[in-house]
Amino acid sequence: MAVVGVLALQGSFNEHIAALRRLGVKGVEIRKPEQLNTISSLIIPGGESTTMAKLAEYHNLFPALREFVQMGKPVWGTCAGLIFLANKAMGQKTGGQYLVGGLDCTVHRNFFGSQIQSFEAELSVPELVSKEGGPETFRGIFIRAPAILEAGPEVQVLADYLVPSSRLLSSDSSIEDKMENAEEESKVIVAVRQGNILATAFHPELTADTRWHSYFVKMSNEIGEEASSSSLVPAQV
Ligand code: GLN
Repeated sequence: MAVVGVLALQGSFNEHIAALRRLGVKGVEIRKPEQLNTISSLIIPGGESTTMAKLAEYHNLFPALREFVQMGKPVWGTCAGLIFLANKAMGQKTGGQYLVGGLDCTVHRNFFGSQIQSFEAELSVPELVSKEGGPETFRGIFIRAPAILEAGPEVQVLADYLVPSSRLLSSDSSIEDKMENAEEESKVIVAVRQGNILATAFHPELTADTRWHSYFVKMSNEIGEEASSSSLVPAQV
């Protein structure tokens, strides 16, 4: 049975483990740096990124998490997990020292406003539907969600979201400035993949739809197979 690590400092780690269980995949709670050596893929859940970062720092997890990502091991960040994985985050109380990084993106931590501006939206995700089948759209649950404002050339955009102007008004003024008079810029990115990194601004673990978890497990298996076949290639002498 495949085993997936789930960072279990704070936030919706239980819900991720339950979603994995529905697929027949075991999720194990990760709280200590040395536990990262025992797993081949990791989910960083949603929650509250400042709190999660403080706990990660307390447990001295940042160096091991950065190494895990840099080694090319599969990692999926949802919501606060996406913020953790971004190379750059904007929005209050975020310092670069609190990011794991690796994902060539700039995120806004609370792009859609505060907790009461949380919402659900049907997202078009062609890559997910082509690999996993099922309904044409995925219902994204956005809870005080971040959004990706810029993505580098290596980043594959899996889903974006056309932000209604009413929602933009609730987000912070710097974003309003950025979006002002730019109809095409009111689209933000909400799901991406960059090699071994998958990131979603919303919470698939809070839905009954397990396609994102299935997608991540398959992605992890593929990366694992590639790594083991390349390690079998004899060294050139
Ligand atoms: N915006 C939140 C933060 O800054 C993340 C919210 C979430 O994970 N649901 O941490």
